[in-house]
Amino acid sequence: MSQLIGAHVSTAGGTEKAMKRASDIGANAIQIFSGSPRFWKRKKLSEIPTDKLFSEQKQYAVKEIYIHALYLANLATDKPELVEKSVNALKYDLSFSSHIKAKGVIVHVGSHQGRGWESVRNDVANRIKEILDDTPKDSIFLIENSAGQKGKVNSDLSEIRWLIDTVGSKRLKWCLDTCHGFSAGYALSKDQQKKYKETSNGLITDEITKYKLWNDLVVIHVNDSKGKFDGGTDRHENLGEGNITSEAFKEFLSHPQVKKKPLLLEVPGLAGNGPDSENIERLQELVK
Ligand SMILES: [Zn+2]
Ligand SMILES: [Zn+2]
Repeated sequence: MSQLIGAHVSTAGGTEKAMKRASDIGANAIQIFSGSPRFWKRKKLSEIPTDKLFSEQKQYAVKEIYIHALYLANLATDKPELVEKSVNALKYDLSFSSHIKAKGVIVHVGSHQGRGWESVRNDVANRIKEILDDTPKDSIFLIENSAGQKGKVNSDLSEIRWLIDTVGSKRLKWCLDTCHGFSAGYALSKDQQKKYKETSNGLITDEITKYKLWNDLVVIHVNDSKGKFDGGTDRHENLGEGNITSEAFKEFLSHPQVKKKPLLLEVPGLAGNGPDSENIERLQELVK
């Protein structure tokens, strides 16, 4: 099978509506939210019929579905009420993922709010264990690397390695975001590594190899970055319009391990309505 090229799409009007939207822009894989990413409220799974969803998925040739968790969740917080809400919301998302036969739930693990990774990591691992223990066995939890902004955890690949080892579940894997990696000081190409060597954490493909993280890497968010290298900001840009450069993307996307992974766009789009056919075409051009 050739490499999947997909995008985050809206589910406005019903989850099944995402399939035609994907097809309209030329995507053959999708990422969706299980509800509004800025609200906790969710429908009961029994109120989400899947017959129509699966038939539309087939009709529009959407090969894989990914769920993106809501932005409100924070597994690294010290506020008990927020911990409870976050754990419950992520349990819902993993159950939803199983319900609609998605490939996994991509999660921004959260922020330590200045307390540091070492002081929160055991709590984070225990909370992930609880979520996995209490959800369907065919659901996968995918840690997304962050840009490191505002105490966000997991900008460093060593932290993702630590979590996967400590939780010790085959259902815990990860998602790489190119914009977040670039913003956290990982070079996407050898030229970039040279140009930024004073502040760089290394060439991202080499670092993934170093931490033996290729097998656990399930999917890649391909986003350009409005923010600068090692700037610690999470601001996505359309492909070729940000600071990563097409040359760097080409080199990164030609890595034999990267070629095996599905690619998903989370870019603003030319009209600002999210990933569009133009960005899908640009990505198809870059992977050629
Ligand atoms: Zn992302
Ligand atoms: Zn982002």
